Amino acid sequence: MDYKKYIKIVENWPKEGIQFKDITPLMDNGKAFKSAVDEIVEFANEKEIDIVVGPEARGFIIGCPVSYALEIGFAPVRKEGKLPREVIKVDYGLEYGNNILTIHKDAIKPGQRVLITDDLLATGGTIDATIKLVEELGGIVVGCAFLIELTYLDGREKLDGYDVLTLMQY
Ligand code: AMP
Repeated sequence: MDYKKYIKIVENWPKEGIQFKDITPLMDNGKAFKSAVDEIVEFANEKEIDIVVGPEARGFIIGCPVSYALEIGFAPVRKEGKLPREVIKVDYGLEYGNNILTIHKDAIKPGQRVLITDDLLATGGTIDATIKLVEELGGIVVGCAFLIELTYLDGREKLDGYDVLTLMQY
C-alpha cells in the first residue's frame, strides 16, 4: 500500500526548519491504518514477543493495536511525572528539544522479549532511550517498528544490531 499519500507534511512545525510528518490522515483511514498495523504484526509474529513497549504519545497509537492483535500486553513509556508508581528514567535529546522518559519499574520482567513501536524514527534518540529503559529492566529488544523513517537523520545508526522495520522512508 502507498502509505505516503496518507501522510501530511507540515512545514516549519512545531519549530522553524522542522518538516513535521502528520500521521493523522493515515489514522483517519481505517483500511490504511489497519494495513500498516497488520504489517507490523506480521513483522512481530515470528519473534515470540511477550510485550509491546511504546513511548508517548504516538508510540501508543501504533503499539496498542499491535499488542491487541498479538494478544499480549502493552507497556507505556512516558514523560517524567506521568506514571503513578515507581519508575526508572533516562535523559535524552530530540530532533527538537530535550526529554526525560520513564517506565514503571515492574513493566518488564527480566528475559521478556520486547517489540518497541513508535510512529517515526528521526534521530533515534527516543527509541535509543526506550531501549535503555527496557534493557535496564532486563528485557530483550527483539524488534523496533515504525511507520516512518527520516533516513537523512541517520536514526538507524543508533539501532545498529537491532531488527528494525519502517513502512515509509523520507
Ligand atoms: P527522535 O527521537 O529524534 O527519533 O524523534 C522521534 C520522536 O519525535 C517520534 O516519537 C516522533 O513522533 C517525533 N518526531 C520527530 N521528528 C518528527 C517529524 N519530523 N515529524 C513528526 N514527528 C517527529
